[in-house]
Amino acid sequence: MFELSNMTWPEAEERFGKTNLAIVPIGATEQHGLHLGVGADWIQAWNIARMVGERTGALVLPVMPYGVSGHHKEFPGTITLTPETLQEVVYEIIESLDRYGIDRVVFMNGHGGNLGAITGAIKEARENMGTLCAVVQWWDILSSRSIYGHPAEEHAGYAETALMLASRPEAVRMDRAVLTPTRQVDDEIQLVRSGLGRFKDGLVRIPLSTVDVSETGSMTEAHPEDVPGTSDYSKITPEFAETLLEDVVAWMSDFVKGFESLSVPLNKPRGE
Ligand SMILES: [Zn+2]
Repeated sequence: MFELSNMTWPEAEERFGKTNLAIVPIGATEQHGLHLGVGADWIQAWNIARMVGERTGALVLPVMPYGVSGHHKEFPGTITLTPETLQEVVYEIIESLDRYGIDRVVFMNGHGGNLGAITGAIKEARENMGTLCAVVQWWDILSSRSIYGHPAEEHAGYAETALMLASRPEAVRMDRAVLTPTRQVDDEIQLVRSGLGRFKDGLVRIPLSTVDVSETGSMTEAHPEDVPGTSDYSKITPEFAETLLEDVVAWMSDFVKGFESLSVPLNKPRGE
């Protein structure tokens, strides 16, 4: 038994007595292009966390299905929290776990827009409670790979579509999948995606709404060879999808095992 939701309180009490680590999946409810259900980010986070729990026996909390998605709000179905709200929620989850002796928390974050709020909360928790937290994101796990020529982190891109296909095929409409090159708005500044631009040979952060740079809601970097409608999602087969999900779960299972025993000195005076 690894899901907190399935435990009675005496079972939970027993479990907290034997472990110091919990996995907390966090996602979002936001548009994912023309072909993925709006639950994509929480569904993936939950599925990965559940599989890691099953494999390692680590305690897994229920998924947080809402996140910071204000930049997608023009697309119907997007339900968003402010960063302040999410930061509070994350902090109070850590605080609740601290009460039962959990001092290692691994967040499986399924939505990049949540990162600032989660990071803010875990810094505060480390400071106030000593809890050691880590944030794992599946596109970071896959960051050294090229997924048929594309980076893993594209919104509703090949990697995300594969993870959804492997996690919840009924939320995928493969026949409507298109990857939309980021719309360019300036000759000098090349937008890589909604929040990131390239100026000369440096990068600059320019937070924009998805609607400013994509008509469909999906997003890819603007490769010169990419023209709208030329993406080929037929490469994303169920077999490819299963393998990609398995790679993510295997990596995270190994990470969780190592993180459980990691000890970092807290407030150690300088020079010691
Ligand atoms: Zn997503």
